[in-house]
Amino acid sequence: MANNEELFKAIISHAKEYGFIFPSSEIYDGLSAVYDYGQYGVELKNNIKQYWWKAMVQYHENIVGIDSAIFMHPTIWKASGHVDAFNDPLIDNKDSKKRYRADVLIEDHIQKIEDKINKEVEKAKKRFENFDEALFRQTNARVVEHQKKIDDITAKYAELMQNNDLAGLKQLIIDLEIACPISGTRNWTDVRQFNLMFSTQMGSVAEGADTIYLRPETAQGIFVNFLNVQKTGRMKIPFGIAQIGKAFRNEIVARQFIFRMREFEQMEMQFFVRPGEELKWFEYWKKERIEWHKALGIAPENYRFHDHEKLAHYANAATDIEFKFPFGFKELEGIHSRTNYDLSRHEEFSGKKLRYFDHETNESYVPYVVETSIGVDRMFLAVFSNAYCEETLEDGSTRVVLRLPAKLAPVKVAVLPLVKKDGMPEKAREIMDMLKPHYLCQYDEKDAIGRRYRRQDAIGTPYCITIDNQTMEDGTVTIRERDSMQQYRVSSDEIINKLKIEI
Ligand code: ATP
Repeated sequence: MANNEELFKAIISHAKEYGFIFPSSEIYDGLSAVYDYGQYGVELKNNIKQYWWKAMVQYHENIVGIDSAIFMHPTIWKASGHVDAFNDPLIDNKDSKKRYRADVLIEDHIQKIEDKINKEVEKAKKRFENFDEALFRQTNARVVEHQKKIDDITAKYAELMQNNDLAGLKQLIIDLEIACPISGTRNWTDVRQFNLMFSTQMGSVAEGADTIYLRPETAQGIFVNFLNVQKTGRMKIPFGIAQIGKAFRNEIVARQFIFRMREFEQMEMQFFVRPGEELKWFEYWKKERIEWHKALGIAPENYRFHDHEKLAHYANAATDIEFKFPFGFKELEGIHSRTNYDLSRHEEFSGKKLRYFDHETNESYVPYVVETSIGVDRMFLAVFSNAYCEETLEDGSTRVVLRLPAKLAPVKVAVLPLVKKDGMPEKAREIMDMLKPHYLCQYDEKDAIGRRYRRQDAIGTPYCITIDNQTMEDGTVTIRERDSMQQYRVSSDEIINKLKIEI
């Protein structure tokens, strides 16, 4: 594959061609940044959700799940700060008429300088055998100069964002000579704030309908149910509430496929702790979450933490787990220590006490919260793009294979009679019936066996079971492994023991 852009295009078309993801409303030319999951996509997505739910709710005795409604009382979004501050700074290029996020233009510019540094480092690595990267970064004049540029821009940018200084952001874009990638010009409008929440009306107009919002995050449904769950579940601090559900954001620039969507799904968990213990729990969740990712067997160098230097006013620690997508390292999951901000604000706006009486300390307090928040669709993209592989085989032929972790693969086993006669289809059906209660299986008798294997490779099926002449004689079948393409014979009663699929 020539470059990452081409690789990303190939991944998107593979997702469509093999029934994972379709553009929404495609026969009407689609709807920007909205996607539908197809027959294999929904299975992979459900498996991701199940993998998360199991790790959170099943393995932690002090975490329970809920499923709150998408529509919520409008005051919730006042209290949470979303009505006043859930904005992105927007800027238009007057020549191309294209719209951008001002912060993203600046961040991309910083990234380009970062890429230059990395290139210098790579070049030097090739040149010197005993290469000391830290020393090189300190002493190489070009690297030092680029790094200084990054530090200056980052400091200025953070200050402008913190002060909500929109004119300053525009000036920074001009000073950095950032041009529109489409028109190539620097003919920019002023920067404006744009609220990302979708609103709609509840009730008929005649009754004086109220403006309500499609939730931009699932977390608030957890906060407003904090006492309901704590009391009915007799939960003792520390405890968590988990939720998986849809969220909606009217993103200004929604590119990069399912990375940034206007309708997406989140898996969030709010962990309620004693005040003063939140940073200990923040560290705990950082470790737990990165281990969850790595347990999938994806190479660890694809993940990194990005600790936030400038924190939101209500947070006292925050980090992102970033993943190496085909377009570079980007946020996959956020872990935030949100203090007691949300519960306190809901106390204030609702007039209801949201306190916990701690029998160990004999105190009543508003708990502090550590949150973990990950997008299902972003996780899907991480897993899918990492699994996508175009291989050239020893005989010179090529195959496209999705090396998905077996527990996430949509179809776990394909059952394939070698030919459509001599009792093989009937025997294959028997094996299907035996495996169905355990795994999602697929029966396929169409086309030559090699083509059927390729079809299964392309959707990431870890095992194919082939029924052939020998099966009819001695009851053994062939198991073919997706990644190694190795084949071995086992007795048909042994199949379940031999398949190493954790679910
Ligand atoms: P970004 O900076 O990329 O916009 P964010 O910091 O606004 O993300 P959070 O509000 O922390 O994101 O949301 C938690 C998680 O939800 C993110 O880590 C991401 O996985 C997911 N997410 C957020 N916005 C979107 C979106 N528009 N499309 C898909 N997933 C999203």
